[in-house]
Amino acid sequence: MKNAKRIALALLALVALCATVLGVVGIETTSHPHQPSALGNPRPLTDVLAALNEPGPVELETITSADWAVERSGLINLNHPTAKAAGLTADDEPIHVFFHALRHPTKGLFIVDTGVETALRDAPRKAAVRGIVASALKLEENMKMHEPLGTWLAKQPQPLAGVFLTHLHMDHILGMSDVPSGTPVYAGPGETSPRSFLNVLVKPVTDRALEGKAPISEWDYRPETRGDFEGAVDIFGDGSVWALWVPGHTPGSTAYLVRSTKGPVLLLGDACHTRWGWEHDVEPGTFTSDAPKGVESFKKLRAFAHAHPQVVVRMGHQH
Ligand SMILES: [Zn+2]
Repeated sequence: MKNAKRIALALLALVALCATVLGVVGIETTSHPHQPSALGNPRPLTDVLAALNEPGPVELETITSADWAVERSGLINLNHPTAKAAGLTADDEPIHVFFHALRHPTKGLFIVDTGVETALRDAPRKAAVRGIVASALKLEENMKMHEPLGTWLAKQPQPLAGVFLTHLHMDHILGMSDVPSGTPVYAGPGETSPRSFLNVLVKPVTDRALEGKAPISEWDYRPETRGDFEGAVDIFGDGSVWALWVPGHTPGSTAYLVRSTKGPVLLLGDACHTRWGWEHDVEPGTFTSDAPKGVESFKKLRAFAHAHPQVVVRMGHQH
């Protein structure tokens, strides 16, 4: 009896140790290098609010690179009372994979996120996402290509000056392989470091997608106590494009405020994936790594949009 108790205790200790090791060690998202961004100045967003009523200098175009479908429970918190009352179920939700083109009159052509790569349409076995990961994401069954990043880039008269990522999840770097080598890539802080055992599968894909690209430049957010967001960076120094820190979905999740020629546009990234979620005040679901932080950022974005109704809002995965 005494022996059985000792063995049980030893087993318990072993399980606890394994859980600790798995939780603490894990594997990081990518081994691609990162560095502080040389572009952008941390600045309070309040500096630009007066200008939101005027058209800005940036031409903005949103491109639907592909249609897809993923589990609704990841996109919308189905346990939220409003979602329950609406009877939302845990099946697939149709979504899009976008990228946004930003043409600045003097700084050049930039994109927010990357859509999908040409190889995913033309030679799926050569795509950065392939094999079991592609099967798990049901790319073959559920994804319909419209405009891969590479075919779109080939039609542009100017070179791509940089990529602004909302975050480093796979569905936002599906087009990265089409980005020319050496192109600067920007993202929020801490995007490369979250550790998870799922990264055993995710990391090779992320590394392949980022191969040959410049190190990831991390926005220099300075925590703001009285600001609308956790931090804000004026990317070009002229108040035309802002990176806004909205952690929760991932540690460095970033929304972008673009003063476009047609008025201000807020690109939410996956701080809110769906139109239903935005319109019904229901935050994203299980795809969010830090749920309480995600809710906080979601509320800040909604409060900002409410206070500035002239701002057009674009969700991460739906029109
Ligand atoms: Zn996404």
